[in-house]
Amino acid sequence: MKVIVNGAGGNMGKEVVRAVYAQDDLELCGAVDMGEVGKDVGELCGLGCIGVQITDDLDYTIKRLQPQVVVDFTTPFVVMKNIEITMSSGVNMVVGTTGITGVDLEKIRLKAAQNNVKAVIAPNFALGAVMMMNFARQAVRYFDSVEIIEMHHDQKVDAPSGTALKTVEMILEQKDSPAAALVQELEKIPGVRGGEMGGIKIHSIRLPGLVAHQEVIFGGLGQTLIIRHDSLNRTSFMPGVIMAIRKLSQIEGVVYGLENLL
Ligand code: NAD
Repeated sequence: MKVIVNGAGGNMGKEVVRAVYAQDDLELCGAVDMGEVGKDVGELCGLGCIGVQITDDLDYTIKRLQPQVVVDFTTPFVVMKNIEITMSSGVNMVVGTTGITGVDLEKIRLKAAQNNVKAVIAPNFALGAVMMMNFARQAVRYFDSVEIIEMHHDQKVDAPSGTALKTVEMILEQKDSPAAALVQELEKIPGVRGGEMGGIKIHSIRLPGLVAHQEVIFGGLGQTLIIRHDSLNRTSFMPGVIMAIRKLSQIEGVVYGLENLL
């Protein structure tokens, strides 16, 4: 399968380049990024020269190289445009870029249907993070109160993380309204109690040194339950990304969330 990595010069893109290049059944045929244009992507990723130069025009690169899959790890600001370009060319996608909203997802499903293409979109490709979300969905049946703390590196632009939003969605599938606060709260510093989605508080921490971490904390009578996942480095996402590329041939339309592939 011929694969183009979009965002190949970024932290995740470089990891995907290394992972795709290491697979016998996948061919890294192209690499697109707005930076490092013209450089050999192998040199950039510590693989030595592999004969794949970085280009900055996704549309042109797709038409020239005719890949079966584009893997996108770019930015929330450009991902919808990238999906539009790729799907219009009739090419399947694996999208890890975060910041995709429910409204965006509906547009993507429509676009995929119109162009008869498939996509796997996941806010978190780490298998352990998928387990964390599944366990949280189970636990909320027995605990009324829950809050989420998500922690990421200081270069992350969107907050809360796609994983936190997805966790809330999965919890709400099980219980539509977690317990409300017992007291009328007084925030002495605005925002100190975090943001809220569907009655669940989310707290976003951004610090250098972090990669991607999340705790789902449940509170009950005389006890707490903490479900925690840590991505210690970006290789943690690669088994999920490679699995998604391989499973494209077996899915219908757009699959959102890695848990729906397992
Ligand atoms: P990064 O800033 O290191 O890399 C982004 C890259 O995209 C940069 O090299 C940039 O030049 C490039 N880019 C920007 N606009 C582009 C365009 N129009 N076309 C092509 N390339 C373009 O960021 P990162 O840490 O690699 O993260 C990328 C995305 O992946 C973010 O949205 C992040 O939240 C997400 N992410 C997802 C997962 C997951 O498992 N789904 C895991 C980690 C990060």
